[in-house]
Amino acid sequence: MDYAIFVNGDWHDMSARDRIAVTNPADESHLGTIADCTADDVDMAVQAAAAAQPAWAALPAIARADALRKLAALVTERTDHLARTLVREQGKPLDQAIGEVGATVNFLTHAAENARRITGEIIASDNPQEEILIRRQPRGVVVGLTAWNYPLALAARKMGPALVAGNTFILLSHEITPISGLELARLVKEAGIPAGVFNVLTGRGPVAGAALVSHPQTDMISMTGSSRAGVEIYRTAADRLKFLSLELGGKAPFIVMDDGDVDKAVAAATVARYTNCGQICTCAERIYLHRAIADEFTEKFLAASRKIQVGDPMANSDMGPKVSGPEAQKVESMIAAAIKDGAEPLLRGGALTGEGFEKGHWLSPTVLEVTDNMAPIMQQEVFGPVAPLMRFDDLESALTLANQSDFGLSAYIWTADMRRIQVARHQLQFGELYINRANGEQVQGYHTGWGMSGTGGEDGIHGFEAYFKKQTTYLDWSA
Ligand code: NAD
Repeated sequence: MDYAIFVNGDWHDMSARDRIAVTNPADESHLGTIADCTADDVDMAVQAAAAAQPAWAALPAIARADALRKLAALVTERTDHLARTLVREQGKPLDQAIGEVGATVNFLTHAAENARRITGEIIASDNPQEEILIRRQPRGVVVGLTAWNYPLALAARKMGPALVAGNTFILLSHEITPISGLELARLVKEAGIPAGVFNVLTGRGPVAGAALVSHPQTDMISMTGSSRAGVEIYRTAADRLKFLSLELGGKAPFIVMDDGDVDKAVAAATVARYTNCGQICTCAERIYLHRAIADEFTEKFLAASRKIQVGDPMANSDMGPKVSGPEAQKVESMIAAAIKDGAEPLLRGGALTGEGFEKGHWLSPTVLEVTDNMAPIMQQEVFGPVAPLMRFDDLESALTLANQSDFGLSAYIWTADMRRIQVARHQLQFGELYINRANGEQVQGYHTGWGMSGTGGEDGIHGFEAYFKKQTTYLDWSA
């Protein structure tokens, strides 16, 4: 199928544009083509979103929330279709894709719940018969740039709060996984959300994405993706001082202390490393083990890693393919380089090419023993099923190793000692901590990265706040 784009409530056939092929990462079958949108297409979408915004913002917030609830109901109804679309374009196993559709519904309904939490302030003035009033106003046109690892949920995570706040929205659906965003547009139309309020473009970040960022009439850029692209967007946005919310890469440390529950830590590390083929920003990217439990943890983690069944994601294997050929090759070369640099392969997985894997971008789990914390495998995001393990002697050195990173998204620690938990909470330089548990945020929390992991954050009341600008009025009624 040749996909159109969704602008101003209608589908626009972009057959005159260059086309980008979309393929299934499990078998490399052709799923269709999308338009490689240009700056002209971007302008058409921005004009539609800008024109629709005042009327949308003029509705009571609860009416905007009702529209999102309707959309959430349609997403729930189409769970099976949407989940299968995600499996085909992204490669995660079906049950995880069903989970992503559930997260999409949660993001939309939680955004709707916040409609009655939009408040202002009245502040005492220094002058008689005067008050200072602060009100929240929508920013205007919000651009959503999303990563390919959770294309549907990330779109909802941004559009939900943006729309409830009274903004209109343009999604650039990532060129590797564009179909679920276009399916969402179909449901937006069915839910009766007014024309121009939600628009979907397709194409490449450096072209359509950059045009959205630099367009004079876009007011906020909410982006989830790599730190590399985040830096480029930051630069492009500087010319017009665009408001940015950037959710970027991670390199989460996973610390297991000598008093941590080793069995539970192994189970959590398995989830936190291999879910979605290791393609989650909060994945356990480097595992630090207290010397006293290191042998036991390593043995049990190796056994769990060997059990991961790699295969057809539609048949609900434990782990599907990597999202693309270049992504799989990147991981394979990071493994090879780490071993060349001295990492000991305890389990040498990597590229799978045998029977059943002739087509597609398959990797099996790799576990490495590492001694150099500054090695690239401990410093660069792998975003694949590779677990480097490193030993430490005490809490202080574990926290120092964990903090030796440019990234600051999430960190894990396993310990039964409240004092150690408090020391870790105060010393870890990360925006999201998981203590004695695997990863997985909740919609009422606040997902925020420090350092090269981003600016701003998403979810809950703090994430909602980003979608407003504030206006201050000095009101003198003495005359
Ligand atoms: P990416 O950086 O390639 O793309 C992300 C989005 O930015 C896409 O919509 C893309 O079109 C756009 N983009 C890219 N370059 C651009 C440019 N120059 N100008 C304007 N727009 C541009 O990211 P990806 O490879 O799809 O995603 C993987 C990354 O996402 C990983 O690093 C992962 O850690 C990160 N991620 C972070 C979070 C989080 O919440 N912090 C969540 C999921 C994924």
